[in-house]
Amino acid sequence: MILLDGKKLATEIKENLKIEVEQLKAAGIFPKLVVIEVGNNFASLKYIGNKKKACEYVGIDLEVMEFDYNTSEQELVERIKNLNADKTVHGILVQMPLPEHIDKDKIINIIVPNKDVDGFNIQNVGSLSVYGNGFIPCTPYGIIELLDKYQINVCGKHCVVVGASNIVGKPISMLLLKNNATVTICHSKTKDLAEFTKQADVLVIAIGNPNFITADMIKAGVVIIDVGINRGEDNQICGDVDFEDCKSKASHITPVPGGVGVMTVAMLMKNCVKAAKCGLKGE
Ligand code: NDP
Repeated sequence: MILLDGKKLATEIKENLKIEVEQLKAAGIFPKLVVIEVGNNFASLKYIGNKKKACEYVGIDLEVMEFDYNTSEQELVERIKNLNADKTVHGILVQMPLPEHIDKDKIINIIVPNKDVDGFNIQNVGSLSVYGNGFIPCTPYGIIELLDKYQINVCGKHCVVVGASNIVGKPISMLLLKNNATVTICHSKTKDLAEFTKQADVLVIAIGNPNFITADMIKAGVVIIDVGINRGEDNQICGDVDFEDCKSKASHITPVPGGVGVMTVAMLMKNCVKAAKCGLKGE
């Protein structure tokens, strides 16, 4: 079994981005990402911390705008509009979850597409589906980079994606399709899930259920991409795959942690540099 080492690849990507950022700075562009956080959510703060470290490493200026839990939707909209118009800001990201009184879809779609480094804006979602470009959501983007790095060609392969969320399941399905895979998407209403997972040449799982996929649910030689980030019974971080059970049956597998999660942050940095380059072209 070959471990798909996201940590190593993420470091390589960030090293290359560091050089690109130096070149941008020499050309007078200082890449800047603004992260909006509403309500001081504990989990969000951890994710913001990871982004902060990555931005420092790569040389991207990060501003975290913290808003009180009771901030109105209208105020948030106005602040984002200001950021849209601010030429010194290249990337805007709204940390989820938002408080219930704020319409998350409305907020995501206020961000102009060329600063939407998360790739969640409806225009970027459309570009990905139709053309396979635009800003690609960071987690699926990271998965494709990992597959590329390990020369896993999905053309003609049966890729089974378990989980159909807008941030992971749907966009990774689109990207796999773009790479000429045959894609099956499963979700919580799928009947006989194991019948599908057992057919997978490549299995992507993103459901948020600790150690859910076991060896009896996969075929020998499968490539497993484990997106899940959960706390197991021992309170340790684990994925959606029972790693110990599946590792000898799979040909390749991503560890958790050290697989898809670290790649996600690296791809965010890549999207920020791409956004800053739009500034270089005067877009
Ligand atoms: P969501 O809760 O938005 O979506 C979960 C998806 O899984 C839904 O489509 C749901 O089906 C499906 N699902 C849930 N339970 C089952 C089940 N028993 N069998 C089949 N399908 C099921 O989750 P996210 O996509 O946001 O995240 C999923 C996991 O990935 C979480 O652990 C999260 O922490 C992790 N994650 C990791 C990232 C990383 O960087 N590594 C980034 C983003 C997420 P239905 O649509 O029918 O409800």
